Amino acid sequence: MGETKTGRIERADAEWRAQLTPEQYYVTRQKGTEPAFTGALTYNHEDGIYRCVACGAELFTSETKFDSGSGWPSFWTPVSADAVENHEDTSYGMRRIEVTCARCGAHLGHVFPDGPQPTGLRYCINSAALDFEKAK
Ligand code: FE
Repeated sequence: MGETKTGRIERADAEWRAQLTPEQYYVTRQKGTEPAFTGALTYNHEDGIYRCVACGAELFTSETKFDSGSGWPSFWTPVSADAVENHEDTSYGMRRIEVTCARCGAHLGHVFPDGPQPTGLRYCINSAALDFEKAK
């Protein structure tokens, strides 16, 4: 385990594999996608914070979560602009924007330009990449 000067977390693949469940590892380190409508947090409506399941960084809040009908947890913005990073993803013959955790590089999901105002964005995020912390 290591943290760089910029606050990024870097771990060897074997460490991630040991730390995460097989599903969490598949989604966050192998850019997998959980089947639609199967994630534990898709219909979670409780108030709280959604953290990166791999490193604990705060990524999204319940205030920006909405029901997109997609079958995955959906948010119209991350908790801050620098919490996540966008990457062009041309896999599977599609042109999409992949979203990763800015701190540890975990694959989270994708962002699409069909979300609600005020951003018009839909962050389509795997439940398996998130840890929900209920507000006290
Ligand atoms: Fe992370």
